[in-house]
Amino acid sequence: MNKFPRKRNVDAGSRDGGRSSSAKKGLQNDGFEHRARKRFGQNFLHDQNVILRIINAIHPQPTDHMVEIGPGQGALTRKLLANCGKLDAVELDRDLAAYLQQTLGEDPRFELHLGDVLKFDFSTLSNVPRSLRVVGNLPYNISTPCMFHLLNYSHLIQDMTFMLQLEVVQRLAAQPGDEEFGRLGLMMQYYCEVEHLFDVPPGAFTPQPKVCSAIVRLTPHRELPVRVLDVRCLQDVVRVAFTQRRKTLKNSLRTLISEAELSKLSIDLGLRPENLSLADYARISDSITRAAGTGSKAAQQEESYVE
Ligand code: SAM
Repeated sequence: MNKFPRKRNVDAGSRDGGRSSSAKKGLQNDGFEHRARKRFGQNFLHDQNVILRIINAIHPQPTDHMVEIGPGQGALTRKLLANCGKLDAVELDRDLAAYLQQTLGEDPRFELHLGDVLKFDFSTLSNVPRSLRVVGNLPYNISTPCMFHLLNYSHLIQDMTFMLQLEVVQRLAAQPGDEEFGRLGLMMQYYCEVEHLFDVPPGAFTPQPKVCSAIVRLTPHRELPVRVLDVRCLQDVVRVAFTQRRKTLKNSLRTLISEAELSKLSIDLGLRPENLSLADYARISDSITRAAGTGSKAAQQEESYVE
């Protein structure tokens, strides 16, 4: 991962060359012109009311150490920087990185990191527990792996505020019994409190995405409200249960746990996977872990969730 050089003179107005046929032109007030690249999930926020609403929801403070993923043309970046103590930004697009470095790089509180967020080591930014406030209008094509990558650093993170597809936010925040309740919500809620803050229409972006978006806040639990012996086992149970959504638990979990063992847990075996709570899944998982005698290794795996 490169830190972007502080002194760099770039001609911000003459890049891209129309490489992406699906690209749309966006012109900034300062004359910077950039064609949105679909492969980088570029949908730039232009609606000032939405931008303000997001900044108000984040409520950056002068002591805050913010981290922005995918700053793009800086729609959120400038407003965050005006109110926080330090801002690290991770951007993959070389042209946008050069533009941001040229326009914001003189500010010593701003540090740009050129590279892929999925490979970024967030522990290089701080070793102080719960010190980082992460934000981003995430590229939708990598939003789920990005959130789970960040969970590896959850001990360093105070909160995360993301723009995601509305459908993804609904899945993250879903509760047992909801149609959208599944793997994503269960595993994220294991680590974080999830708050669906508000929705954002396609018209707030250039180019407009085909789907609605929403803002979500993820706050890593100080103490896990539900803790399993082996988080990988929990992942397996949840994956198997939801791969066969239409089956009852008795049938879908057959390969992992016997009916006799399941019935000892006083869980209704006739239920479908979306009707069980995280605590129910944790009990199933721990029963399997104990039976396999692997519980002692499990605690060490907690810091390395990989979806
Ligand atoms: N924050 C800007 C805004 O709200 O207008 C841009 C948001 S745009 C949806 C996503 C941004 O993430 C783009 O700037 C894109 O280049 C960047 N990006 C895409 N993939 C990335 C990756 N793997 N790592 C870091 N940044 C990435």
